[in-house]
Amino acid sequence: MKPPAFEHHAPETLEEALEVLARTAEDAKVLAGGQSLIPLLNMRLAAPGHLVDINRVASLDTLEVTREGVRVGALARHTRVEHSAEAADAQPLLRAALRQVAHPVVRNRGTVVGSLAHADPAAELPAVLAVLEGTVEAVSSGGRRTIPAAEFFAGPLESSLRPGELAAGAFFPALPARTGTAFAEVARRHGDYAMAGAAAVVTLDDDQRVCSARVGYLSVAATPLVLDLTGVLGHRPPVTCDWAAAAAYARDHIDTDEDIHASADYRRHLAGVLTERTLRAAAQEAL
Ligand SMILES: Cc1cc2nc3c(=O)[nH]c(=O)nc-3n(C[C@H](O)[C@H](O)[C@H](O)COP(=O)(O)OP(=O)(O)OC[C@H]3O[C@@H](n4cnc5c(N)ncnc54)[C@H](O)[C@@H]3O)c2cc1C
Repeated sequence: MKPPAFEHHAPETLEEALEVLARTAEDAKVLAGGQSLIPLLNMRLAAPGHLVDINRVASLDTLEVTREGVRVGALARHTRVEHSAEAADAQPLLRAALRQVAHPVVRNRGTVVGSLAHADPAAELPAVLAVLEGTVEAVSSGGRRTIPAAEFFAGPLESSLRPGELAAGAFFPALPARTGTAFAEVARRHGDYAMAGAAAVVTLDDDQRVCSARVGYLSVAATPLVLDLTGVLGHRPPVTCDWAAAAAYARDHIDTDEDIHASADYRRHLAGVLTERTLRAAAQEAL
């Protein structure tokens, strides 16, 4: 299939990009790596009149790692973030999740921020941003705003970006002390979209007891779902935690539909298994 006709804009500065977006608003789409947008155009599932191609906007090609966390600019490709040792040190969930995104050829081109803006509930990075309580920075000709992950994912393939807004970057906070993370998913083949996936973050207190345990899920709900399992696990050392109770809680609180890839029951079962697996691994890492 060929895409419907559109006007291609190739701004070289952020200001130019925002000016075109302000002018074309509802009828425009930002083009970053094109790994999701181009197939959608080719299948005629999207038909914007204007594509605002940000690939020449050098100021968006950034990756900043500080003690606070990892800030990924809108043009940073998956591969660059995946292979950054500094980014992996500051936020290990990023690399763990990126290794599960499609295949290297897609990751060479696709952007982290594009994946967030695309808001696919089966995608890895939205779940990671959600469990870490990260943010997306939206800019438009009218100004800037910071959108918390909990408000960013509005529905399947729907973000809370407004017409005329561009996601300039995303921020993945660093981990507190005594914190471990783990990421796991089940897919039919490596590189396929997951039938279910989980990202866990577990923090221990000074006495090595669990004081925070959260899991973010992909491919189980319309938007990335986050469960706080701290109460279920109790304020216990990992060795005496009831991981099976956490898995049961996840199964009871995940309401998913069936699709061509998995029945609702199977997906709930996977979510339970992945909850236990990732929580145990994250707690072990936190010790
Ligand atoms: C074969 C294949 C397999 C895949 N498997 C996976 C997988 O397993 N897991 C996974 O998560 N993804 C997968 N994907 C999807 C893909 O990796 C991501 O969706 C992609 O990386 C998104 O980034 P992009 O830069 O290519 O975005 P684009 O395709 O350029 O854009 C995607 C959407 O986001 C919007 N957008 C992009 N950047 C911005 C911005 N800065 N501001 C505002 N809006 C923006 C676009 O307008 C569009 O609506 C796969 C893709 C392919 C082709």
